[in-house]
Amino acid sequence: MIAVTALKGRKVALFGLGGSGLATAQALVAGGADVIAFDDNPQSVAKAASAGIPTADLRTIDWSGVASFVLSPGVPLTHPKPHWTVELARSAGVEIIGDIELFCRERALRAPATPFIAITGTNGKSTTTALTAHVLASAGLDTQMGGNIGRAVLTLEPPAPKRAYVVECSSYQIDLAPSLNPTAGILLNLTPDHLDRHGTMQHYAAVKERLVAGSDIAIVAIDDAWSTQIADRIERAGRKVVRISKRLAVPDGYFADGPRLFEATGGKVVKLATLEGIGSLRGQHNAQNALAAIAAARAVGVDLAVIQRGLDTFPGLAHRMEQVGMLGDVLFVNDSKATNADAAAPALSSFARIHWIVGGLPKEGGIASLSGFFPRLARAYLIGEAAPAFSATLGEAAPYEISGTLDNAVASAARDAAATGDPNAVVLLSPACASFDQFRNFEERGDAFRRAVLALPGIKPIAGVR
Ligand code: ADP
Repeated sequence: MIAVTALKGRKVALFGLGGSGLATAQALVAGGADVIAFDDNPQSVAKAASAGIPTADLRTIDWSGVASFVLSPGVPLTHPKPHWTVELARSAGVEIIGDIELFCRERALRAPATPFIAITGTNGKSTTTALTAHVLASAGLDTQMGGNIGRAVLTLEPPAPKRAYVVECSSYQIDLAPSLNPTAGILLNLTPDHLDRHGTMQHYAAVKERLVAGSDIAIVAIDDAWSTQIADRIERAGRKVVRISKRLAVPDGYFADGPRLFEATGGKVVKLATLEGIGSLRGQHNAQNALAAIAAARAVGVDLAVIQRGLDTFPGLAHRMEQVGMLGDVLFVNDSKATNADAAAPALSSFARIHWIVGGLPKEGGIASLSGFFPRLARAYLIGEAAPAFSATLGEAAPYEISGTLDNAVASAARDAAATGDPNAVVLLSPACASFDQFRNFEERGDAFRRAVLALPGIKPIAGVR
């Protein structure tokens, strides 16, 4: 745990006692703050109280003596409307911050030179965070990874020599971290998302911009117009910017040509690394993630040979184009995290002959936007509530069967793919749907797929992070 000493002896109100909120309260208490914590859920309040955290209804406290208000990132700060605690803090003129801010203040106090890489973007945050942490760990750094992935940031080990932090930041967390100042900050991409919580795309982009605007080195992928403008703006403001692109040969910066990654300086190009043969990093979206991870690793002094070794040994993340096993030449891939059509597109674009398991609880628009990939389909296996609608969308464009359940789909797809004798055949679960009609969440759906695949006679499992 990182005990937060930055607010020692100060009165701190805290709202939101879920997993990370409770950890934050404990870190503040351990550092000597005078904490008063609360939650709308009485069970969470009781749990915190039994863990030794002072609690009180924040409607009843005297806000005039409160130095800081610490809010869980899941609680609305601005949209659709500020939570009642936010109104109370604002009218008392109390700053509103989150756990990433507390981490930044603690780092500034104890070890300001400790390498700190922060990652944001609409898509690819977790993959890039895990990859960057893996590359740094491969270089022998004591790497602490957390934030919006895995462990809450204040549950990591405290700053120390040869220790580096790799922290995934959601826009909600950035919104609560006014002094976010990483050694290297990564902005991967910006597309409309979570606008219910951010109101407009302008506001969403402005929040994300703050992560790179505060970085010593700003690593920005310029593959969309919003991110390109941000790169230009923060460079004009005097920041060091490393531009990366998964498709444009930028004259200055890092870019991808298929799986080969390059650095250009004044138009002069040198090879950085290759993703050829790395199953966990297929596809152009992963070229973007890898370029960002490389730029961050170099920003903290890791050399290219070590970086390539890190890329080569990256096990990937569960449920994101996760390689599960091989049955003869047939590869089985679990992309259960793809809960809408946009998220399924990268996986479909990464393979040539696909036995596609798709369906669940459909989202608006269904799979119509994926029609460009239909010629790659050897066959589709439709599951869940979406099956009738998706069969209509596929029509004559690709063969399909209505499998109903995931188990039926795996059995049919395995049989058909093996029968083709195609050395590039892939059975891909990339459902383009929510899971809730048949599973509790996408993780459970991916686990069920993995179990069904690993039960196939003759399957050779592929080791990964599970
Ligand atoms: P996040 O943490 O931002 O949700 P993940 O790394 O968990 O992102 O990836 C989620 C899904 O987003 C992946 O399954 C993949 O389909 C897609 N994805 C990953 N990286 C990118 C990227 N750089 N650009 C666009 N889509 C991506």
